[in-house]
Amino acid sequence: MLAACSLADPVPVLAGSNNIARMGGSKSLQLTYHPFDAKLVHPFTVSGNTRTMTPIVLTEISYDGVTGYGEASMPPYLGETQASVMAFLGCVNLKQFNNPFELEDILSYVDKIAINNTAAKASVDIALHDLVGKLVGKPWHILWGYTAAKAPVTTFTIGIDTETVVREKTLEAASFKVLKVKIGVDEVTDKMMINTVRSVTDKPIRVDANQGWKDKNYALSMIEWLSERNVEFVEQPMPKHSIDDMAWLTEHSPLPTIADESCQRLADIPRLKGVFDGINIKLMKCTGMREASKMITLAEAYGMKRMIGCMTETSCAVSAAAQLAPQMDYADLDGNLLIANDCFSGMKLVDGKITLNDEAGIGVRRL
Ligand code: MG
Repeated sequence: MLAACSLADPVPVLAGSNNIARMGGSKSLQLTYHPFDAKLVHPFTVSGNTRTMTPIVLTEISYDGVTGYGEASMPPYLGETQASVMAFLGCVNLKQFNNPFELEDILSYVDKIAINNTAAKASVDIALHDLVGKLVGKPWHILWGYTAAKAPVTTFTIGIDTETVVREKTLEAASFKVLKVKIGVDEVTDKMMINTVRSVTDKPIRVDANQGWKDKNYALSMIEWLSERNVEFVEQPMPKHSIDDMAWLTEHSPLPTIADESCQRLADIPRLKGVFDGINIKLMKCTGMREASKMITLAEAYGMKRMIGCMTETSCAVSAAAQLAPQMDYADLDGNLLIANDCFSGMKLVDGKITLNDEAGIGVRRL
């Protein structure tokens, strides 16, 4: 079906297809998309809200008999839905472009269609990168000149839960060299989380407070406590708009601080210099691989640490993010492991380390 372009009042549609260039021949760009409900291996609890699935939209861009795959993943708290993503994609008119290699112009056009909608934009960006990589016959980490062996280990995330569940999850994560532990609730819960993990293992921990600490002095006292327990850094300790308090905290903190909610896109980075020690780049926040690669360069120029993260995503979007991993100091790419019905194979973990294959594009196969 041909999706109508209406962003004002998105309505659910089952699937869509548009942008069939009418310039003749097989060398035309065609975007298709359909919703996909990713079922979670374990129910996932955030702020008292438990969910068993994550809504996803899968995209394909075909050109000259070659197909690139993409994905938009929408955790409910980010505001995008399958309906809003498909409404956005219905407005993407690729027929005005007849050369898929013009990534800058095509993706700049997509970005200007509407503000926000970053996951929807990422689904076009990833499919286009996969297509172009396949047309060239090379994976993106090679096209970018990255050294695959430099890709870091990934963390596995332990969510906020009861002592029993946290202990079980920590034991299950035995093959991971580093753990990411969610905290940011209150002092009793936060210390229970860390002490429970520590009752099982001494391996390094990275913590994510998800904006949970509201007072800078309290945040500093928690970070000092964490720094004595083999914790490597603290992600988003304070609310995203607490810039002055955050700058004070980073100045006094014995551990590096990493911006997640405070850092969505390339344009956010300049004001975060001196406020955080590093940034967490996620394709669904920053509109995709093109902007993510620019964020790496800018953060590097500012002397800031780089981390690559993800949402709950299939191996499609996770493998796209993994193409950038060799240029990262830290990685948190475990989103595909949380999905019971992953419909792609791609990046693999070997002893917890991100291991890229030599396949063209983003290195995925549809299962
Ligand atoms: Mg985070």
